Amino acid sequence: MAGPRDAAVTVVGGGAIGTAVAYFLASEGWEDVQLLEAGLVGGGTSSQAAGFVGQARPTVERARLAMASAKEYATFERRTGYPTDWREVGAVRIAMSETAEAELRVIAETARVTGLPVEFLSPEEVRRIYPVIERTSDIRIALWSPTDGYLQPTSLVNAYTQAARDLGVTFASHAPVLGIDVEHGAVTGLVTPQGRFATEMVVNAAGPWAGALARLVGIEMPVVPVLHEYFVTEPAPGWDASLPCLRIPEIQTYARGEMGCMLCGGFENKGTSLDPTEVRIGDALAVDPNWDVLGSFVSQLERFVPDATDLGVSTVFRGWPGFTPDGRFIVGPVSGLRGFVMAAGCNAHGVSGSAGIAMHLVESLLGDPSPYVRSLSPDRFLPRAWEWSQVRRQAQAVYENYYPMPQTAAS
Ligand SMILES: Cc1cc2nc3c(=O)[nH]c(=O)nc-3n(C[C@H](O)[C@H](O)[C@H](O)COP(=O)(O)OP(=O)(O)OC[C@H]3O[C@@H](n4cnc5c(N)ncnc54)[C@H](O)[C@@H]3O)c2cc1C
Repeated sequence: MAGPRDAAVTVVGGGAIGTAVAYFLASEGWEDVQLLEAGLVGGGTSSQAAGFVGQARPTVERARLAMASAKEYATFERRTGYPTDWREVGAVRIAMSETAEAELRVIAETARVTGLPVEFLSPEEVRRIYPVIERTSDIRIALWSPTDGYLQPTSLVNAYTQAARDLGVTFASHAPVLGIDVEHGAVTGLVTPQGRFATEMVVNAAGPWAGALARLVGIEMPVVPVLHEYFVTEPAPGWDASLPCLRIPEIQTYARGEMGCMLCGGFENKGTSLDPTEVRIGDALAVDPNWDVLGSFVSQLERFVPDATDLGVSTVFRGWPGFTPDGRFIVGPVSGLRGFVMAAGCNAHGVSGSAGIAMHLVESLLGDPSPYVRSLSPDRFLPRAWEWSQVRRQAQAVYENYYPMPQTAAS
């Protein structure tokens, strides 16, 4: 792997979003692109993700972004030779109440507009598609999305990296960006432990550290790291890799099979966030598993899957995806500082949405981006004197309402 160098474009951060951006920039003809990563490429939040790629969404633009991404993952290996380990297993989303059913109907209507195939399932049909669900009395109705699926996030990052490298992008690990040079309102270079290098464009894809990186150029971006975790059990009968993705918003729990084991996680009602102003470049952001939270997901799941709590835990995955106070990605150039571009604020969609985010980023750098891409611009947050406790509360609320009801849908 090369070291940092002078480059026209520098992508900072080697997670799913940074590697996707590097690949899409190069495949759209951008030249002289490098990616700098503080640790190991793929070693950040992306290494912990569960890999769910959900396309059935309440809003049209988010659904389109997810569908465009899923298409990329399904065809990436054929086009580039590098596997994303995409599995089109489908997804089941269960409604337990009238309100949740209404939400499913909004999602189904959005799917109709975007052309995503979905159908409603009765409790008996859920049982047929998802045999480990033995208890169906709490199921009112479910939505089946047959073209949904999941991938292996490390495979995805690796695939983007290899494909980008084939297009001439260089990658440097252990190259934290510690300073950014600005002259006359434009980015001119950056500083790493290996030295100072010239660059005309910095793309901030630093995940939960994106706020710290933006601070290097005097910009306060509201990217709040919010804790998220799930676990994988010991081998569990019936939890094959071919089982569909399962989401039960009312108990805020998700599950799927992971090589013969059960993967189970969720979005708790009371999230935990870090003060973004205290996150520094290079902070490990390590955290112990919260067994109370993990235990609550699986005990809720027992309403559908008997004996789920009896399965022994093999591994806990956890990390701090960056959430924004409005629940939207931050994608595009900062108008007041030429050459400084954001690709952050994943809101825990950064693996599933990485391809779409990167495509939107490329679009934002061209002449006439769509209204949706414009709406993701970092300019919406600038200039702003943030009340940080409020920013944290709002970003946490986005996490806590990850499975949104229509009127609060993050887009
Ligand atoms: C437990 C868990 C489960 C999840 N499940 C899913 C899922 O099923 N589907 C989904 O879509 N999303 C999921 N997510 C969210 C997903 O992981 C994130 O949205 C995604 O990984 C964000 O990618 P990223 O590239 O922005 O961040 P990261 O992967 O964190 O990459 C950022 C990189 O930037 C580097 N960096 C930071 N500062 C600097 C600097 N100054 N110089 C150089 N490098 C720097 C870091 O070292 C890091 O490698 C999950 C997250 C967690 C924690």
